[in-house]
Amino acid sequence: MSDRNELALIDWIRLKAKHAVGLQVGIGDDAAVWQVGGKSLLLTTDMLMENVDFLLSEAPASLIGRKAMAVNLSDIAAMAGKPLVALVAVALPKGCGFEFARELHEGMQAIAEEFDVTIIGGDTNAWDQPLVVTVTLLGEASERGAVTRSGAKPGDWLFVTGPLGGSIRGKHMSFKPRIREAIELQKSVNLHAMIDVSDGLSADLHHILDESGVGATLVTDSIPITEAAKQMGDSRSPLEHALSDGEDFELLFSCSPDDGRKLLSGVCTVPVHLVGEINAEKAARLQWPDGTITSLARFGWEHSF
Ligand SMILES: [Mg+2]
Repeated sequence: MSDRNELALIDWIRLKAKHAVGLQVGIGDDAAVWQVGGKSLLLTTDMLMENVDFLLSEAPASLIGRKAMAVNLSDIAAMAGKPLVALVAVALPKGCGFEFARELHEGMQAIAEEFDVTIIGGDTNAWDQPLVVTVTLLGEASERGAVTRSGAKPGDWLFVTGPLGGSIRGKHMSFKPRIREAIELQKSVNLHAMIDVSDGLSADLHHILDESGVGATLVTDSIPITEAAKQMGDSRSPLEHALSDGEDFELLFSCSPDDGRKLLSGVCTVPVHLVGEINAEKAARLQWPDGTITSLARFGWEHSF
């Protein structure tokens, strides 16, 4: 199935879910927001597949388990929420052994505990196919409410919480979900829109622009670039890596210029980098040091199937 078909499928499912009682935010954000008993619950799930999201030859079981939990934590962070409990479903390759399965779960447990998350259930199966790990995470929105992808306003400043690119060199397995950073940011300022950078800065920015019905300009020499991206040494520049590599799991968010100035003056301890601004005109652009403006393609990738 092509990227287009995947998006069409999601749109179709989205339509079906439209009238669910209590549903505040459905498909199309980092987590669903479901209101029950006066609380806004956040629900998200992510599947990691061997040979797509990790290679067994390159990652120990504990790191695979850690990543499976961490990508879900990152989606709760993107809503500025607090994670609570998780369900874990694993399809183990037959013959992988007890020790492998134990290490996989230890990796999940360790990072779950770090963020006060309890694994309260799940399912374990074995088959003669590669490893698949699915974590479903339940969290709750803060009193200020969940931060969605759809609240960006023209004039907003755009920030990221850390350098981007080259995560394939290691960060994609060992990144820190920005749960605490998101909560602190939301306590300090009024976050308009937020997403975690999983598909790549450009692709994830486009998700915010699509959901908010706005455009944006990124300033090329303001984009923080990781050392790993600078050392990739392939045909793509470090900037291209920072724009299009996925799985950095930093936060990309927008807020008013007033709040942006507060953040830059150190109103909270979270490191932030101003990378551009939101525009009314629905286009994504790059502004280069000589003042040239070019259009910003939707790099990054969506899963094709
Ligand atoms: Mg996400």
